[in-house]
Amino acid sequence: MSDQDRPPSLATVLAAVNGEGGSVTPPIVQTSLFTFDSFADFEDRMAGRSDQAMYTRVQNPTVAAFEAMMAAAEGGEAAVGFASGIAAVTSTLLAFLKPGDRVACVEHVYPDTYRFMERMLRPFGIETEYHPLAAFEDDPDLLKGVRVAYLESPTSVVFAPLNLAKVAAHARRHGVLSMIDNSWATPVFQRPLALGIDIVIHSASKYISGHSDTVAGVVVSSRDNIARLRDLTLPLLGAKLAPFEAWLLIRGLRTLVPRMKQHRATADLFVDRLSALPFVRRVNSPGENSVPGLTGRSGLMSVEFDGSIDIPRLADALRHFRLGVSWGGFESLILPAQVGLAQAGAFNSMQKFGVSPDLVRLSLGLEDAEDLWADMASALDKSKT
Ligand SMILES: *Cc1c(COP(=O)(O)O)cnc(C)c1O
Repeated sequence: MSDQDRPPSLATVLAAVNGEGGSVTPPIVQTSLFTFDSFADFEDRMAGRSDQAMYTRVQNPTVAAFEAMMAAAEGGEAAVGFASGIAAVTSTLLAFLKPGDRVACVEHVYPDTYRFMERMLRPFGIETEYHPLAAFEDDPDLLKGVRVAYLESPTSVVFAPLNLAKVAAHARRHGVLSMIDNSWATPVFQRPLALGIDIVIHSASKYISGHSDTVAGVVVSSRDNIARLRDLTLPLLGAKLAPFEAWLLIRGLRTLVPRMKQHRATADLFVDRLSALPFVRRVNSPGENSVPGLTGRSGLMSVEFDGSIDIPRLADALRHFRLGVSWGGFESLILPAQVGLAQAGAFNSMQKFGVSPDLVRLSLGLEDAEDLWADMASALDKSKT
């Protein structure tokens, strides 16, 4: 291959100018509707003979610019944006499932995805079974009779990685549609479509945005799958991505690659140093090549202590780590499992999947890595019982 034929790297793809008339960014097309010049144009659009934008619930140029960037990033044919990550998850599941269908889902799935399966899909006659990752990889008949394999790799909370190529091959053999929530790795560290997975879903609120200022979601897949989502979920469920959020996400994507490299460097440092501490039982943070196709760790990990760390005291002693949900922004966060275990309401997934009260989740932000480590080391010192 000559240098000219070499496909551009992701950082280069995401830096491409996509405005018009010399503008390096697309405009925010802040409108609800688009009018037609003539009866004939209007009729053509309604009859499906043109794709002129008509109404922002289903089509908007700023949103389309973001979708094109995401399709390119994940190596998919097409993409569709949503109002939130959970809207992307639930809209996709609803578009491909019907009563009587079965879903095979990974354990430790994102808590609200679990609640959707249990509180909304199950009453509609769609049953979800939860399996350990090893069963997805090693039991060739696990997916027999299943309609959708719902995956995360790594999973939420305990960040266990899955061999996606293996699972995708099992899914293909049984005619099962495979979906993965790829929010943790981002296309920088994992491109599931290339491994044979059918549909990639993101909470774009996390690393895609990167700035903790947007709630959004996106789905990337084949032209046919995305056409089905456009046909069913945008017009009929209506959880569309707004033009301004799409514009913020385009801005986020410009720096995705360098941000992920920085998150990875800080995470590498934390994994090394945390693993060396005698009172740390486990560091959950799959790194490069822990499964085929995963090329780096992101900044989201969890740590399990041996019981000798007073977790509320640790959380309160940290200065650079703020307490909160979400992750993937510039700021570092700690989320103790004890808080999740205490969450009120039915279907607590942390209780269901048996998460240890000695676990804390860390989202390592873009602050200086040594500052973050000094903060953590000092807070741990103050929290020993
Ligand atoms: C946050 C999150 C979601 C939900 O996304 P929202 O944008 O908050 O709706 C889905 N999956 C994972 C893994 C998440 O962390």
